[in-house]
Amino acid sequence: MGVHRIEAAKTGRSSCRQCKQKIAKAELRLGVGHAQEHGGHSMQWYHLQCATQERFLELEEALAENTLAVPNQTALEAGIAASIQGQPAATYPRAIFGSDCDTYHCVHCGNWSFPSTIRIVVIRPVTVGGRTFDRPVPIDVGCANEYLGDPALLDTVIQNTGPIDDFNLKWLKESMT
Ligand SMILES: [Zn+2]
Ligand SMILES: [Zn+2]
Repeated sequence: MGVHRIEAAKTGRSSCRQCKQKIAKAELRLGVGHAQEHGGHSMQWYHLQCATQERFLELEEALAENTLAVPNQTALEAGIAASIQGQPAATYPRAIFGSDCDTYHCVHCGNWSFPSTIRIVVIRPVTVGGRTFDRPVPIDVGCANEYLGDPALLDTVIQNTGPIDDFNLKWLKESMT
């Protein structure tokens, strides 16, 4: 999980990752934190309305914790709801590969892993700002068997993940058996 928050832009220099336009000074923006190897986070910024497109889960969590007045909160919540509905229904546990991956901490051992590391993802309740969301949480491939304790896990993951190229399939099998 990254660290997400809504704040007023401190300067007019940040750009929105979605629309690539500048975010005006003092405008509310969503920061999505990415864990760094040596601690701390680097932040990526979004206009709140833009975040409803691809960062809607992070926005929803940030709104739950937010104490600032958000003038368009109703419109944002409608945008989040539309994005959630538009998502293809994914089945879990599944494997996530390559470009879909951020840095992460394994929910089992807590170790930090690089972006693009293959990981197993399961749905777990995550409580943010007093609200609980079902969210995908990452597990190291090598930790998944122990964490989930399911003897059929490898087959389930392969089935849920869909097409996997030969290289990744071999790697997954070697890592999970
Ligand atoms: Zn934007
Ligand atoms: Zn682990």
